[in-house]
Amino acid sequence: METAECLNHMAPYLFAQIDKKRDALIAQGADVISLGIGDPDMPTPEHIVEEMARAIRRPANHRYPDYNGSPAYRRACASYMKTRFGVELNPETEVLALIGSKEGIAHLHTAFVNPGDYVLAPSIGYPVYSGGATLQSAHTYFMPMKEEQGFLADFSNIPDDVLKRAKIMFIGYPNNPTGACATEEYFDRAIEFCLEHDILLAHDNAYCDICFDGYRAPSILERPRAFECCIEFFSLSKSYNMTGWRIAFACGNPKAIEALGTVKNNLDSGQFTAIQEAAIAALTGPQDCVREMCEIYQRRRDLVVNTLRSIGVSCTAPQATIYVWARVPEGETSESFATKLLEKTHVIVTPGNGYGPDGEGYIRISLTIDDNRLTEALERLKTLIPS
Ligand SMILES: *Cc1c(COP(=O)(O)O)cnc(C)c1O
Repeated sequence: METAECLNHMAPYLFAQIDKKRDALIAQGADVISLGIGDPDMPTPEHIVEEMARAIRRPANHRYPDYNGSPAYRRACASYMKTRFGVELNPETEVLALIGSKEGIAHLHTAFVNPGDYVLAPSIGYPVYSGGATLQSAHTYFMPMKEEQGFLADFSNIPDDVLKRAKIMFIGYPNNPTGACATEEYFDRAIEFCLEHDILLAHDNAYCDICFDGYRAPSILERPRAFECCIEFFSLSKSYNMTGWRIAFACGNPKAIEALGTVKNNLDSGQFTAIQEAAIAALTGPQDCVREMCEIYQRRRDLVVNTLRSIGVSCTAPQATIYVWARVPEGETSESFATKLLEKTHVIVTPGNGYGPDGEGYIRISLTIDDNRLTEALERLKTLIPS
């Protein structure tokens, strides 16, 4: 049996070595604490779970869902976009339900990329942007992402032969893993660039609701001419602690929405309508749960940032997301420092090079762990201070 050629080109699993060390430590009975997981630790808010409990008992929901999402769910998405960002959407042509935004991002390649084409992806980013291209037998061009430029992916020096075959540019702010936030001016430049080169601009906005210090993350669709070239991905995963539910939506340019819908209509049959009904409760219900979660993450962020600085690890306090992105000390690599932390303190962090070439020299710490365990992990990190 021979598998498809593209599978041979999928990036190897970069965290395998650390996982092996972790498993060995756990087998020896060590108390390992993971700060490596990007999955909210808090439960889905009660009013959303309650709506699901009601929705699951409605026999109409037991049948095949609407392919593009129920009209009520798409209206709720549009209403969220209007309330949250002032963005007006036609729920019929400019909104598409997704089975998690990972699914939508991966399938966007099927809708727009031919074998041999290019996808432009940030050099530190969510692996699906380039993985989706590989599965399509297409190439990825990594746009440099440097701390000096605020981790804004740089599209100013892309070679002409790449640009000619570039079909999608992926960006995502507030950013996983760097925690960086984009300026309006950056969005405007990206839109202008993609319009000039006839590229679909895909903005991954999974963390727009997890903001600190009064910061308010924008939608790229607020910007002028965005509807001419942009598709934006929103997810209920992080905003409402719903990673396991698999519910998200794409919105923006109607041609892009239609193309993605065509791919999906041929591959899946939509998300369970009961889950869409619970998601309506999330998007249109009280938002205090989101504010409370942000306060918790903000407190954890401060704990992590202060401790890292006290042991000589440099980092900026992110204004959004559930991660702290920190530079490794002089003389260490991402991998060597993550390994040292694991071996000496039994604390797991994610080595930055796992997110792409420019991630080397950094580690990512997740804030998705309860305060007691986080405090314990930080106490252990402090013991690393050279005396
Ligand atoms: C968590 C995350 C998502 C959301 O994925 P879902 O499939 O909706 O759970 C999307 N993009 C990034 C960068 C993420 O970190």
